[in-house]
Amino acid sequence: MQLVHTKAELHQALEDIRRRHRSLGLVPTMGALHEGHLSLVRRSCADNEISLMSIFVNPTQFGPGEDLERYPRDLERDLRLARQTGINIVYAPEPRQVYDRDHSTWVEVPGPLSESLCGASRPGHFRGVCTVVAKLFNLVRPTRAYFGEKDFQQLSILRAMTRQLDIPVQIIGCPIVREPDGLALSSRNIYLDDQQRQQALAIFACLQQTQRDYAAGERSVMTLVRRMRSQMETAPGLELEYAEIRDPGDFGTPEQAEDHHRALLAARVGTTRLIDNMPLKPKPPINA
Ligand code: AMP
Repeated sequence: MQLVHTKAELHQALEDIRRRHRSLGLVPTMGALHEGHLSLVRRSCADNEISLMSIFVNPTQFGPGEDLERYPRDLERDLRLARQTGINIVYAPEPRQVYDRDHSTWVEVPGPLSESLCGASRPGHFRGVCTVVAKLFNLVRPTRAYFGEKDFQQLSILRAMTRQLDIPVQIIGCPIVREPDGLALSSRNIYLDDQQRQQALAIFACLQQTQRDYAAGERSVMTLVRRMRSQMETAPGLELEYAEIRDPGDFGTPEQAEDHHRALLAARVGTTRLIDNMPLKPKPPINA
């Protein structure tokens, strides 16, 4: 496994690889790796001759007052975990190597896709995500790039960005990895104390209940969403930000629920913001 920190080192490492190998997989992360990240890396290693993971806490996707400073960073631990996956290259740059001091070019996918749900509560977040991912695509020029369905809206936005800008990369969405009790793995779960960790399970429970309501024949999105909201409002220790059902294609709100529509939730447990989602018709779970 090769570790590179600068763009020059990255170019050098990739030059030879591009000559000798046909497929290159990219897995962008912010580090503090867990099984969710590692599942993406393993998938990339299975699909591609060479795989590269980036570890970069991207400052431009954090808003004022968010957790940029306290976001968990432990490169040594991340590298130990990365080594066990078969990843070929880890790119771990410093912010000043990624953004020029006078950085002024931004990639945005305007409209409801970026402005609703997480985009409404985190203005500028998806602009930061799209910009850093576009930069990574240009630097690495991967054959395929891997993103988790955990950040379902992000995945949809990145698909739109890639399509609209004709970026020659295949976007691969990967299933959510969960703890055995259902909590979706997230680098931010370490902020939770024991009680909050228990309270956070209400998010998973609510999504599962929505799947059960759907399986029992409820097809009105309005009714399903109303039940999600009232279930979340009675959950102790949780402050609901949004509970929605969306069409994963255009992120519109359907009237009649269908199997592939997605229930999406965001809630705060104390100061920690958690997101999760599920399709209305369940797929087999992946446990950590
Ligand atoms: P992050 O480091 O939080 O920016 O996440 C990097 C990538 O890992 C993103 O594509 C996330 O969607 C994905 N990811 C994060 N948590 C999970 C999870 N529990 N299961 C699957 N993918 C995940």
